[in-house]
Amino acid sequence: MSDTNRRGLLVILSSPSGAGKSTLSRMLLDWDATLRFSVSATTRAPRRGEEDGREYFFKTKEEFEALVQSGGMLEHAQVFGNYYGSPLAPVEKAITAGRDILFDIDWQGGQQIRGSVLQRDVVSIFILPPSIKELERRLTSRGQDSAEVVAGRMAQAKSEISHWAEYDFVLINDNLEECFERLKTVFQAARLRRDARPELMSHVQMLNQEFEDLL
Ligand code: ADP
Ligand code: 5GP
Repeated sequence: MSDTNRRGLLVILSSPSGAGKSTLSRMLLDWDATLRFSVSATTRAPRRGEEDGREYFFKTKEEFEALVQSGGMLEHAQVFGNYYGSPLAPVEKAITAGRDILFDIDWQGGQQIRGSVLQRDVVSIFILPPSIKELERRLTSRGQDSAEVVAGRMAQAKSEISHWAEYDFVLINDNLEECFERLKTVFQAARLRRDARPELMSHVQMLNQEFEDLL
């Protein structure tokens, strides 16, 4: 939704790696062409098929640190031994233009954004896997990470899941289509939140004027 009468929402999706947040993000972005994706910067190496500027901005450690030093990051964190962060400028641009922006970030990034001046614009959603066995199956079947990387991500999953209760909404990604339906419901409801809709003030003023005119 692009509407200068409203402020854009910051939609944060977090989950243990492999629970399905990239898949669900892509589905939501395909479903709503006005929704922007916050392309993170990272020092991790590109996976097969990933393009610089589309999935991530791939940076060296030095480049990443310079971005942080210059105040260019809304949040940043170390995840699985690499730096990841959300560039600030596109976020500011999106929300002042009334565009919603989607973040696929870990719990540390979620905490930082919720603690920032933008906190009133945030809707946060945590995705849980149906089981740990299925989480491991998904990480392995994605077929893009070595056994060692998969093991490292499984080792971190418990700690990521321990932050589930910090989020506004929690979805269990068992059946993908059903989970996506619930995600759309959350997103549509969040767009109706009073805080995101300054235009309501003038609508209520108009209603009050009509009351006056009735007298
Ligand atoms: P994340 O972004 O959380 O690391 P992905 O979206 O990459 O996770 O999903 C990991 C793997 O699991 C992918 O191969 C994806 O196609 C698959 N997947 C995602 N959701 C489901 C689901 N509900 N049922 C079965 N497989 C799924
Ligand atoms: P992956 O390497 O699988 O793409 O991502 C690994 C983890 O880093 C995921 O949990 C993902 O959500 C998280 N991540 C991606 N971008 C960012 C970011 O900009 N900031 C933070 N804090 N985490 C991120």
